[in-house]
Amino acid sequence: GKILVSGANGFVAVWVVKSLLERGYTVRATVRSENKGTHLRKIFASYGDKLELVTVPDITTAGAFDEAVKGVDAIEHTASPFHFKADEPEEMITPAVHGTVRILESVAAHGTSVKRVIVTSSVAAVFTAQSTPRTFSEVDWNEGSINDCKANGRNAHPVSKYCASKTLAERAAWEFMEKNKGKLAWDLVVLNPPYVFGPLLHEVSGPDALNESSQEWYDAVVKSTLSPKDLSTTGAEWIDVRDLGDLHALALEKEEAGGQRLLISGGLWKWQDWVNASRKAGADVAPGDTTYDPKTTTHLTVYDVSKSSKIFGFKYRTMDETTRDILADFKSRGWVK
Ligand code: NDP
Repeated sequence: GKILVSGANGFVAVWVVKSLLERGYTVRATVRSENKGTHLRKIFASYGDKLELVTVPDITTAGAFDEAVKGVDAIEHTASPFHFKADEPEEMITPAVHGTVRILESVAAHGTSVKRVIVTSSVAAVFTAQSTPRTFSEVDWNEGSINDCKANGRNAHPVSKYCASKTLAERAAWEFMEKNKGKLAWDLVVLNPPYVFGPLLHEVSGPDALNESSQEWYDAVVKSTLSPKDLSTTGAEWIDVRDLGDLHALALEKEEAGGQRLLISGGLWKWQDWVNASRKAGADVAPGDTTYDPKTTTHLTVYDVSKSSKIFGFKYRTMDETTRDILADFKSRGWVK
């Protein structure tokens, strides 16, 4: 089969492309400009014409994906801004929402061979910040971030701007499916991963040009920019980028995934856990909070992944494995001792 991957030059998407190619699929990869495809051609050179590159300069324009969706069996839509530097919430929301709706519109109009669309959402569309521990599941939606953006505009919390973009984009996808119910020959799967960490396969010129989640890991663990207290109290859940790539492939292969919103996660962390794992792996990084005890720390936000576990039966990589491979990659780039 042939699979369209949008935003194929991104941190996550390159691993999605790799998983698909390894499984024997042909991949049609979209990037914003031709030069962003050069690195992809290089790293996947051995796959020859099993990798096609297509330029979609502006994913928000009507018909943007009309040509790209022709002749593909499924879509993996990953393109969406992930950073905390936007002034206006709309800088995040417009590409996230319109990018998602445009691709669905193009599939409905021209994707006659498409059987499934997989949208890369996030736990950003699920959780709400709270001060006591809470477990979230697929029924939860991050309304708080939308409210913050509505009430405060450019003064909304930077995290709210990103979270609102993911919440509104995912909601728009489900609304599109509802509105077109009975008229579509394909179904939707939404994956909601937490923080994604792992070795880099996409093009990165240096540690200051990292994607958001890798940047945070590099800053906290390698550069040691956080206080010991912040290292031992700040955390979330995470997934290895290679597992996320494989799950994008599984999401298109598992019949039961159709129509589902699926939380996926490899587990909980505090920055100090990554510091400790790095030191255990032999990396020369600052010790941080030496009094930290992972067994007694409190995790405020927990995700119930039982639904996706039943469907995927997936074994996630461990923190030690992910840490070892991130460090090996960073070492090969001369970023860590
Ligand atoms: P990257 O920044 O590495 O990749 C983002 C991709 O989206 C790039 O291909 C980028 O293209 C494209 N993109 C961004 N803004 C636009 C825009 N305005 N118009 C067109 N394309 C755009 O991020 P990740 O790989 O980390 O993120 C990929 C997906 O995974 C996103 O949907 C993100 O929300 C989701 N996700 C990521 C998590 C993480 O921790 N990394 C956690 C949970 C979900 P270009 O290079 O041209 O800017």
